[in-house]
Amino acid sequence: MAGPGHTLLDIRNLSMRYANGKMALNGVDLSVAAGEIVIVLGSNGSGKSTMLRCVSRLQDPTGGSIEVAGNDLARLKGGELRRARMAVAMVFQHANLVRRRSVLANVCTGALGHHRNWATALGLVPRQEMGKALDYLEAVGLSHLAGQRAGTLSGGQAQRVAISRALAQLPKVILADEPVASLDPQAAEEVMGLLRRLAKDEGMAVLCVLHQPELAARYGDRVVGIQAGSLMFDMPANQVSPERVATLYNRIAA
Ligand code: ADP
Ligand code: MG
Repeated sequence: MAGPGHTLLDIRNLSMRYANGKMALNGVDLSVAAGEIVIVLGSNGSGKSTMLRCVSRLQDPTGGSIEVAGNDLARLKGGELRRARMAVAMVFQHANLVRRRSVLANVCTGALGHHRNWATALGLVPRQEMGKALDYLEAVGLSHLAGQRAGTLSGGQAQRVAISRALAQLPKVILADEPVASLDPQAAEEVMGLLRRLAKDEGMAVLCVLHQPELAARYGDRVVGIQAGSLMFDMPANQVSPERVATLYNRIAA
């Protein structure tokens, strides 16, 4: 395990201007260390998803640099980019599992980027990944459901399987975009507890968008607030005041 403290994700001056001229990110600076979980708060349309998509290179930022374990993802292209991107795993609001396939098969697909050939292109999973996939299911406490069809899982279980699939990618950084937005409170606690454990026990860097300041304070090490594409604050989670959060969500009466 990597020791806590060294920077795994370093975002500098990140900007994103959409084709329609919309400036969704205005020079964002943010870094996340190994072993750290950072929560992003901000109202709808403030640029949270754009930031995560740019960092994972699901979309191309128009400016800035994104260093992941020393590789600048914003500059790489082609095969080099594909390999470097494996270090960054995304988790979304919806688990997006293949419902008719088994839980284990779903987890295995997370590793496919490491085996690019004709067989994996057809969705066939290399044998050696099966055993590892069981370990990743064990890590999220669901190895007993390995053989079950993914479509039969509860929302919270499905999200934990999605995180297990992300682990199969062997990431150093996990980006989670509102991962508990469609879960009940109990399942939300489980998923947040899991993300925090991956940071603390596995030394990953976790960057997670939430809408609940109360969860942010309990599970985050730091909380950053984003408004209209700019970071408004970046501070230890236990120092974020309700007033700060209210300002961010524009809830203060004029
Ligand atoms: P959040 O995740 O914080 O709700 P987004 O990152 O989705 O915000 O969006 C930030 C801003 O960028 C919003 O004003 C949104 O309308 C705009 N936006 C998002 N995607 C696109 C796009 N593909 N083209 C143009 N504008 C976009
Ligand atoms: Mg969003």
